[in-house]
Amino acid sequence: MSDTIEKVKCLIIGSGPAGYTAAIYAARANMSPVLYQGAQPGGQLTTTNDVENFPGYPDGITGPEMMMELQKQAERFGTDVRGGWITKVDFSGDVHKVWVNDEKEIHADTIIISTGASAKYLGLESEQKYLKLGGGVSACAVCDGFFYRNQEVVIVGAGDSACEEAHYLSKLCKKVTMLVRRDAFRASKIMEARVRNTENIEILLNTETDEVLGDGQVVTGVRAKNNKTGEVIDIPATGFFVAIGHKPNTDIFKDYLTLDETGYIINEPGTTRTNVEGVFVSGDAADHVYRQAITAAGTGCMAALDAERYLAAKDSTFEVSTSTYN
Ligand code: NDP
Repeated sequence: MSDTIEKVKCLIIGSGPAGYTAAIYAARANMSPVLYQGAQPGGQLTTTNDVENFPGYPDGITGPEMMMELQKQAERFGTDVRGGWITKVDFSGDVHKVWVNDEKEIHADTIIISTGASAKYLGLESEQKYLKLGGGVSACAVCDGFFYRNQEVVIVGAGDSACEEAHYLSKLCKKVTMLVRRDAFRASKIMEARVRNTENIEILLNTETDEVLGDGQVVTGVRAKNNKTGEVIDIPATGFFVAIGHKPNTDIFKDYLTLDETGYIINEPGTTRTNVEGVFVSGDAADHVYRQAITAAGTGCMAALDAERYLAAKDSTFEVSTSTYN
């Protein structure tokens, strides 16, 4: 542990659209925000290809590009953007304490949590084995699809993510087999139609993954079972993509903040306030309904405004900036 404790007015944890938007607003309100980027700088959008639904980009923009622009915008107003991972927090007293990489201790008047969510896996032993080996299991088609050019892959899931990723893979791979555990998609109709209309995507309904097959080093196929007929088939594949949803990154807060049964932080309706004064939440860490970049950005803005008002109410010398409302 370091013996110098840094004191900050506003600490932002996470670097997705929520974190950077909170930073832009907090910086413009003279809160001198410090932002820790976490393990995946730029957040989930860095694993997305084209973002076509964020207002202001009529021709679309890639996720990584958009995140670089958001970072630049946050830095332009003075946000101190740092690499590092918050490993521990203590929200039991008036001062909110956090530790960076188990070493550096920071005391913050306000905290904005924008830690987002992480990809879920099936949990099969064979899946985890090849994931750890880097041998053909992935939860990010945009990151890893390129490695499977002209090859055959399998993808699990039937939500918007799975459809988006299957479609992305179909442009690179010879064939994409999509395993859907029910007889229906969860995805929006337009996304479902897109995969259904893609020639090299084969959809297997009522089908679950039994095992990821491999040669000990890399994936060679997937054993799948029809849960209606009991039929088992081996599908040749060099890549196995998992797109079955996400888990909020909130474990380090569970001793202090109220979470729902899945781990999403519960905020006061209509605000970004958590059950701890001075601690605010934005983005996917609290949102299991919308989970969009634009809604994350919106709640990032709200969190900075809530934090600013909290500081102003606590400290009469800290004035609420008018610029944030422009
Ligand atoms: P979702 O929770 O929407 O979908 C998860 C999918 O995975 C479901 O089809 C689910 O099946 C399936 N699944 C879950 N567990 C398993 C399992 N163990 N085995 C097999 N299948 C499983 O997650 P997404 O990540 O797709 O989407 C999250 C949110 O983000 C949604 O609100 C979505 O609309 C949004 N999104 C929007 C996009 C866009 O607009 N461009 C792109 C991507 C996401 P079942 O249906 O049976 O539960």
